[in-house]
Amino acid sequence: MDLYEYQGKQYFARFGLPVPDGETADSVEEAVAAAERLGFPVVLKAQVHVGGRGKAGGVKVAEDAAEAASHAGAILGLDIKGHVVHRLWVERASQISKEYYASFTLDRSDKRYLCMLSSKGGIDIEQVAEEDPGAIARCHVDPLDGFSEQEALALAAEAGIDEQARAGVAACLVSLYRCYDEGDADLVEINPLVLTQAGGVLALDAKVTLDDSAAFRHPEWADFAGFEELDHRERLARERGLQYVGLEGDVGIIANGAGLAMSTCDMVEQVGGRPANFLDIGGGASAEVMASALEVINTDEKVKAIFVNIFGGITRGEEVANGIVQALGRVDIKAPIVVRIDGTNAEQGRAILDSHGAEGLVSLPTMLEAARKAVELAAASASGVAGPSSGVSR
Ligand code: GDP
Ligand code: MN
Repeated sequence: MDLYEYQGKQYFARFGLPVPDGETADSVEEAVAAAERLGFPVVLKAQVHVGGRGKAGGVKVAEDAAEAASHAGAILGLDIKGHVVHRLWVERASQISKEYYASFTLDRSDKRYLCMLSSKGGIDIEQVAEEDPGAIARCHVDPLDGFSEQEALALAAEAGIDEQARAGVAACLVSLYRCYDEGDADLVEINPLVLTQAGGVLALDAKVTLDDSAAFRHPEWADFAGFEELDHRERLARERGLQYVGLEGDVGIIANGAGLAMSTCDMVEQVGGRPANFLDIGGGASAEVMASALEVINTDEKVKAIFVNIFGGITRGEEVANGIVQALGRVDIKAPIVVRIDGTNAEQGRAILDSHGAEGLVSLPTMLEAARKAVELAAASASGVAGPSSGVSR
């Protein structure tokens, strides 16, 4: 998950990184009120998931309320590389003396973390790497060893950070490392990290990508996800803890395992249908999870047929079938369901579905047959032909 700058700065602050005071604003009035509370001059900054905002007119300094209002009006609604600005970060302006660059990321080829520090900040680091590669000091960090203040100081000297800023920059690097490591980020980047005219060191920008696989140990990340632009199906799925991606078609898909879910989407396309979603229910297929998955798909008006594709490995076929039957008892599903169960105890699973004999529930033994049936049912429903035959067929 990518954070907006203001969220990144809030995350930085938790690890002791110095960031300027600021407030979010979603309208011109809010921006002016925030600016007056913070005190002029302020900087108004577009909150979008894309860099280069400064050059695109998304970062502006205001000296008074009138200027804050006109800048806020100009930035809100601005389209920056396809991202429309809906939110501003209003921050007390800093008097910049020097701009630096600092980041931690994973160097996959080296299997260690990589810290990069440069005395040339405020411009694209890619551009610095191209034009003046010597201006970027690098050091690898073994997560078992951690990153010490001494290493940080040595790197600051190597990067040519001005003498009076070195201690401050080194302290920032140590905090930034903690944010990256304990904070479970995939990337933390400060560009620019500045030396102010008063001699302080501050993070003026924040780029943070959190490692989604670590979300289970960070309940507080839920606050960050709230402002993401999700459609209603995706929001509901996320609340239920499901791996869901909304698509445009009319065949709802439930599969166990991301690979199988993707193959199921492909198979539906291959036989002439269009998937309404990608939904991976993971390893198990309990009644709980199956009911949640069916509920999410049920809220999608476009879905005309549902294809449940389960391969039993550790999960046994009869558990899956019982889960589906129990889920059907709990959720009133609008579209017909085609189930394919294969793998461990598949026969027992299919027998359970057969004997259940619910209307609109079809069980087929292979993925291809099931995909064809689901697509056919969706097409029949779309063309107004009577729905599925009642009872379970094989
Ligand atoms: P980006 O263009 O999306 O990377 O946005 P940044 O947050 O990095 O801002 C771009 C540039 O605006 C920075 O490199 C600074 O030169 C300038 N800037 C940002 N905040 C301030 C500030 O508080 N005071 C001053 N004088 N300039 C700032
Ligand atoms: Mn920047």
